[in-house]
Amino acid sequence: MMLTAIRGMKDILPSESARWVALENSFRAHAGRYGFREIRTPLLERTELFSRAVGETTDIIEKEMYTFVDRSGDSLTARPEGTAPVVRALLEHRSEIGEWPVRLFYIGPMFRHERPQKGRLRQFHQFGAELFGAESPYADAEMIAFLGGFFQELGLKDITLEINSLGDQECRPNFNAALTEFLKARDDKLCADCRRRRERNPLRVLDCKSQECIRATADAPSIIDFLCGPCRDHFAAVESLLADRIPFRQNPRMVRGLDYYRRTTFEFVIPGMGAQNTVAAGGRYDGLADMIGGKEPVPAIGFALGVERLLMLLGESASDASEADVFLVTSSPSLMAEAFRRKMELVRDGIRADMDYEGRSMKSQFRRAGRSGAKVVLVLGEAEAERGMIGYRDMENGTQEELEADEAMRRLGCFRKER
Ligand code: ATP
Ligand code: MG
Repeated sequence: MMLTAIRGMKDILPSESARWVALENSFRAHAGRYGFREIRTPLLERTELFSRAVGETTDIIEKEMYTFVDRSGDSLTARPEGTAPVVRALLEHRSEIGEWPVRLFYIGPMFRHERPQKGRLRQFHQFGAELFGAESPYADAEMIAFLGGFFQELGLKDITLEINSLGDQECRPNFNAALTEFLKARDDKLCADCRRRRERNPLRVLDCKSQECIRATADAPSIIDFLCGPCRDHFAAVESLLADRIPFRQNPRMVRGLDYYRRTTFEFVIPGMGAQNTVAAGGRYDGLADMIGGKEPVPAIGFALGVERLLMLLGESASDASEADVFLVTSSPSLMAEAFRRKMELVRDGIRADMDYEGRSMKSQFRRAGRSGAKVVLVLGEAEAERGMIGYRDMENGTQEELEADEAMRRLGCFRKER
């Protein structure tokens, strides 16, 4: 039986990889302009990092992690998200990373054992950014503007920003109590998962995607009404900093899937994309460093963007599928060594060149040249070679002329790729 990839884990084929690289490069450049530096953490971490950081009653911890015991008997987990590893790395290398504020970004695969469907994979990719050491609402506004600016740069118009505040350890307990009361009275209308977790983590019920829970909680109390003075001020400041920069909508039901969030949370959503409509999400997580054993509290805010969902949104764009700009054709196999020398010379000069290695007929070499997408075919013939000449065929208009070999090579300089 032929082996296939694991369901929900996709190969990125050559026809798609150029779009990936282009998007990654845009994100890198955009992040660089905001002063963010890239960090690359391992794909595997101790399971404990996520169970401490992400929260015991989240979907991720309850049912989505790829966790296994390795040969040394340690429990490891393929990272389901990027924030906990970045915070772990920051605390571990605190002195090497530099003074506050610290701005870091990452690009890479994440792993979650979910039911694969459109926009929901088991290995998916995120771009993420984190800003550490700044408590001020300016930091929140910067992160949201950074992400909004990236979408703008990509020309995405139908994307909307939703924001909320989850309060802090002062005020959230009051909201939790009110929400718990509310949910208790509607226990029979909730899904089985939510009935179970309502006691331990009532906020999670607001994040549930089942229609029954969405209906049952339509008139739930709003967290905004429960914010304490400092949280209310912080939220108002964020809103006013965003006001003339980027349109947004308050969504008091947005609680985010991870437990570590405090105060500001935000999502960029696409109306009409169904349950997989969130393209990027983030928030403030001032308590996380403490939860994973940091010695000092580190205020922080960050976001993660789902690359597959973003690519879906950007749609199919025409990408250059050609494999070569120049194809070398020989009239006889005896000229192959000469063609090979020229191909290597071209490639070394940054020009994509190819030839046939199997000594096929000229007709079939031309067919391959056509398929490669080459714009020019260099034709090496015995008689011409003796005179130091070479055939230069322009594949776009079909004309062929005889040129001095050196002159032909010079002309091909226009295909040189930026390095
Ligand atoms: P959802 O509510 O869609 O399950 P989430 O709250 O679990 O998302 P986050 O942990 O906030 O998602 O991750 C940030 C972004 O990563 C999401 O907005 C989404 O674009 C993307 N993402 C999350 N899970 C997946 C997945 N299984 N497949 C593809 N993209 C994903
Ligand atoms: Mg999820």
